[in-house]
Amino acid sequence: MTDKPKKPTNQNRRPQSKNPSARHAGAAARTARRNREMANKLTNAHRMVSDADKAAFIVQTRKEAKTNSTAGKLKITFLGGQNGIGEKNLIVFEYGDDAVVIDAGIDLSVELPGINYAIGDFTYLESIKHKVKGYIFTHGHMDHIGAVPYLIPKIPAPVIGTQFTLGMVEKQFETEFELEKIVLNSDNHDRIKVGCFMVESIRVTHSIPDCSMIVLDTPVGRVLHTGDFRLDPEPLDRMPTDMDRLKQVADEGLLLLMSESTYAQAPGRVPTEHTLKESIHDLIARQSGRIFVSCFSSNINRVQMFIDAAVAAGRKVAIDGRSLLAHIELAVKLGYIKIPRGTIVSIRDLERAENSQVMVICTGGQGEENSALVRMSTGEHQHIKLKAGDTVIVSSTPIPGNEVSYEVIGNNLTSMGVNLYTAKTYEVDGCGPLHVSGHAKREELKEVIELTKPKFFIPIYAGNQFRKYHQQLAESCGVKKGNALLAANGESVLVDENSMKLNGRVPYGSQLIDQTGALVPDLVVHDRILMGTDGIVVVVLTIDRKSGQLLSSPDIISRGFVYMRDSEDMMSELRTELRRFALRRYNKVEINRFKQELRDHVNGFLFKHTDRSPITIPVVNAVGQGGKSAQVATIQSRNTVGKHMPVNPDVSQFKGSYDVR
Ligand SMILES: [Zn+2]
Repeated sequence: MTDKPKKPTNQNRRPQSKNPSARHAGAAARTARRNREMANKLTNAHRMVSDADKAAFIVQTRKEAKTNSTAGKLKITFLGGQNGIGEKNLIVFEYGDDAVVIDAGIDLSVELPGINYAIGDFTYLESIKHKVKGYIFTHGHMDHIGAVPYLIPKIPAPVIGTQFTLGMVEKQFETEFELEKIVLNSDNHDRIKVGCFMVESIRVTHSIPDCSMIVLDTPVGRVLHTGDFRLDPEPLDRMPTDMDRLKQVADEGLLLLMSESTYAQAPGRVPTEHTLKESIHDLIARQSGRIFVSCFSSNINRVQMFIDAAVAAGRKVAIDGRSLLAHIELAVKLGYIKIPRGTIVSIRDLERAENSQVMVICTGGQGEENSALVRMSTGEHQHIKLKAGDTVIVSSTPIPGNEVSYEVIGNNLTSMGVNLYTAKTYEVDGCGPLHVSGHAKREELKEVIELTKPKFFIPIYAGNQFRKYHQQLAESCGVKKGNALLAANGESVLVDENSMKLNGRVPYGSQLIDQTGALVPDLVVHDRILMGTDGIVVVVLTIDRKSGQLLSSPDIISRGFVYMRDSEDMMSELRTELRRFALRRYNKVEINRFKQELRDHVNGFLFKHTDRSPITIPVVNAVGQGGKSAQVATIQSRNTVGKHMPVNPDVSQFKGSYDVR
């Protein structure tokens, strides 16, 4: 606490003058400007492509065409993934008249009012639409595939990837959409021709089935794109990274390695998944009450581990959460999970079962809103009421942005008296480790660089800091200084057999998507931020056209600004002020000018009394003969409704497939 005197509140500050001075109007305008700048800053962090960007890009494209500077070179363009972890990954590879895209993801970490996630801006891709020959996917996490319903209908081309990955891609479409699918079998080392490129998938371990590194043979040489990976020698499904094929592919000569940098700051290696098996089996075996476990819903190996442990402990398993059901359904259909007959029971049957005979696998381990575990922790779950003696095991860490809700869930659960074991606190909870990351740490990143011996190197999938660590690591592992390059979102790189260099920028940005899957213009988000800052005030005047007199007391509507009942004196003074102002100015100036002056006047008045600058909307209804024409609200709504895309509106059901830790 400090002794600093408090600023007077609205209630105890006396109005100082009946006519808001120009000084107050100016201060109100300055505050409004500051609020707008703050809103700009927030929306600019996810900025949309401006007309100026587009114009600059047209100039650059013409220049490139004139100088033929890209001829004989591979052009790689980053449209997402280079600003942070789990950030709408999308990279374009172009040579001559052919282009392929690797991954097209969404960014679930966007925290703007009413926004569910962001996708990339596709202005650049639309400019080379005629070249796009295929979309290649490394794996089925949402930050790699979530944008497909927005992109593929606009720029159609075949989708290429492993079986499970393409199954996930298909699930993103709300309605049946005719996808041309080309399935890559990593075990057969299938190679397929896409335009002038040859594509192969190499099996790799991560945290969702059927992950791939992508080998892209181009006219200038071989490129290896790692996607997300770690080098787990003992994954539960016994499908380790195909190190032999990786070595073969590299031995034939690797021009460029593009490797993920999520954990480029973390020393050592990620422990093998097998290390969890013992602690999970042990923990489940020693519980006597009901058990609830949550993990990333796409981490099918982890789900398998829990099912095996439940079966070993003589428990039946119920599955709770749409995301989990969606992933398990696909995994069962494609044979990626084995569930003994009679193991699964319905969540409704739990009431009849003995406490010691049930286990529930549920969503919510990442702190996702409305997930099953969150509803249980707040007592809002329709079928399950947690009680003392229950055990909750959280076998995952929160996704970026969900750390706070993850903590709140923990607090709520312990308040209920349940025994809580989490991946973050397992040492003090008294059990073995409950989670390992799906992303390679430095020793594994190093192993890939040393094994593949690339001529050139570009770190991908993280912010500049981690990519820089990875760049330095590559240089320490034999990549020649100057041959490891940092490229940001919106930048292009030109590569040939002998050189690699940055090649200017293309339009880059985000498109914001709401809960229904609709695009939301950034102006709308901008207004929402402003309204969230100081609220909104609407003043409604009914004016006699001839005299300029108000025919009724002005209506004043306030939302999020002040509590009207506590501010009656100020509002009554504002009504008097509005009457006076209308009489003074209505017949003196034309209608638009009147509205503008009225808004400034109200802004000045409110700022003088509250030091706040809400969005002010004056509405003027003119009645009677003569004078100006009747009119409506001053500020036309900018809330153009976003265009609905064929996206699965319940994208939240796949949030569990966003594993960035
Ligand atoms: Zn991933």
